[in-house]
Amino acid sequence: MLLSKFIFVNYFILMYPREIKDLIDELSTWSSVGPKSAERYVLDLLKKSSEEINVLIEKIKKIKNIISCQECGNLSEKNICDICANPKRNKNIICAVGDQQTLNALEKTGEFNGLYFVLGGVIDTVNGIGPDNLKIKELIARLKKEKDKINEILLAFDPDLNGETTVLYLIKLIKENKDLQKIKVSRLARGLPMGSDIDYADEITLGNAIKERKEI
Ligand SMILES: [Zn+2]
Repeated sequence: MLLSKFIFVNYFILMYPREIKDLIDELSTWSSVGPKSAERYVLDLLKKSSEEINVLIEKIKKIKNIISCQECGNLSEKNICDICANPKRNKNIICAVGDQQTLNALEKTGEFNGLYFVLGGVIDTVNGIGPDNLKIKELIARLKKEKDKINEILLAFDPDLNGETTVLYLIKLIKENKDLQKIKVSRLARGLPMGSDIDYADEITLGNAIKERKEI
């Protein structure tokens, strides 16, 4: 593995001018972009005009203005995101998710009309991510603060080991908190393939998992 990586890196040094190699190396450091994909992106960029490159640079700069919603953690250009600010959303139900991709996948189904709370990841003991590394305290604080308004929390996490660990941890935490006894805890119905990512599920399957969610 190490040897093949070494050969790959040297291949770039031999084949490309330094500027191109540097950009390929830079893009290769991104998660989910391997050296071959990075190479393709850079070769595509080379075909673009200076004007097109400037437009791209400006677009990249603009995403630095995006912040996390103060209420739910959803990405937003305003302090309160469009979902939280929407008066038509059902404020009685909150869906806890690990990340933005899950939120987007649930939104795409059109089956959930409540609010969200993004934890910023899932419990992952192998990689040293515990409850304190996530916004779990903030979630509990929000549930307590709005306990007269919220009557359900839906736990929507990937059907894999880390997702399951996070769900079980949250169930225990919420159920054992006497301030939160009136809040119904539910989770997505089974039906999503084990080990899969929610954001790869088709909209109908995921929509059904929301509609048929189970109270715990
Ligand atoms: Zn929000």
